[in-house]
Amino acid sequence: MKLVLATSNKGKLKEFQQMCEDEVVPFSDLLGTFEIVEDGDTFAANARIKARTIYQKLGEEYIVIADDSGISLPILEGAPGIYSARYAGENATDKDNLYKLINTLKEKNLHITPAYYTAAIAIVSKYGEYVVHGWMHGDVIDEARGDKGFGYDPMFIPKGYDKTLGELDDDIKSAISHRGKALALAKPIINMLRTK
Ligand code: IMP
Repeated sequence: MKLVLATSNKGKLKEFQQMCEDEVVPFSDLLGTFEIVEDGDTFAANARIKARTIYQKLGEEYIVIADDSGISLPILEGAPGIYSARYAGENATDKDNLYKLINTLKEKNLHITPAYYTAAIAIVSKYGEYVVHGWMHGDVIDEARGDKGFGYDPMFIPKGYDKTLGELDDDIKSAISHRGKALALAKPIINMLRTK
């Protein structure tokens, strides 16, 4: 069974391809691009919606994996959370969202405050649906540093480090990230489905 990733986010696709030994194909290579309405109220619900939508279009030969992820700040009662991709508005770019969050910190006179990333990975195949989670804790700062990673990475300092994910190497992020941790739980499930 072929492994298909239900995302058109280039940052996520690159990370999945770096972290998986198996070939991971983005759904757009097989189906073209179209919008999936993510109207769930949790990361898990939205990951399921994405994986199910693509699985229903592709059929039983495929294992579809989808990641829904975002950053949460306790000081903002969990925002942006599941709205991380559209924090600065419906058609916001990663940069718009990054600077909206930086400006929110500046307005509150916060130079640094705790934050965490969450990733839910849904796996949908003819054998049913699974969801696993991973988290990465740290702090966000009121400026962007470095240009590695994507999204909010230039303002996020993982716990135990003194640099942002924009400054740290990709392999460090893969080893400690929310997505890396969720994928470590997803891999045995994917392997089990492939050998069924
Ligand atoms: P989704 O594609 O609906 O899951 O939205 C995910 C959004 O959360 C992205 O557009 C980023 O803004 C943010 N995000 C998720 N994971 C990461 C990460 O690893 N680094 C930086 N931003 C992330």
